[in-house]
Amino acid sequence: MEKLFNGAIQFRETSFEKRKDLFKSLDREQKPHTLFIGCSDSRVVPGLITKSMPGDLFVVRNIANIVPSYRISNEYASTTSAIEYAVNALHVENIVVCGHSNCGGCAALYFEEHELAQLPNVAHWLEQAQSVKNEVLLKHPDADPVRREWLTEQINIVKQMANLLSYPYIRKKYDEGTIKLFGWYYMIGTGEVYNFNLETGEFELISLEAK
Ligand SMILES: [Zn+2]
Repeated sequence: MEKLFNGAIQFRETSFEKRKDLFKSLDREQKPHTLFIGCSDSRVVPGLITKSMPGDLFVVRNIANIVPSYRISNEYASTTSAIEYAVNALHVENIVVCGHSNCGGCAALYFEEHELAQLPNVAHWLEQAQSVKNEVLLKHPDADPVRREWLTEQINIVKQMANLLSYPYIRKKYDEGTIKLFGWYYMIGTGEVYNFNLETGEFELISLEAK
């Protein structure tokens, strides 16, 4: 923790000082342009991989970057609430669902029941992505473990994008063209980010050439 306490001091004395005006302008309001739905994984840092500044991204992170299917519920629906707030109160223009390589949540879809015995809430949470596993096993039964891993992670992103459209207010804005949906795949070991092309159904490296 010592490192984090020192970090808080250093942040105030250097980073904050350097961008004082920006932080001042954000003092009483936020107008993020993008809702970023990412995995809780410590290696996925939304602001870092997009070179964004405070105020740019409204972020919700959970295990395996899952978008729960739309419902109004009596549970304390964390991700659903964050999506609702970003879209209906902050009026974000974009939603990015960002998955990543070596995702533990996606890997856990293939665990035996006893392997998740100490993680009952995680196991329950991941039930929402069972259809991803089913699709991978059905369409790619011969995939080796490495291929199965990235297929699961990428199909999961596409499924979660589709789940976003089960939210009536997102569907409406999407059809009107006032909100855009993106699926990103971040490769931890290379720093590459791939963008899902809705027309080709492929993930394409985001690069200057591709722009
Ligand atoms: Zn993950």
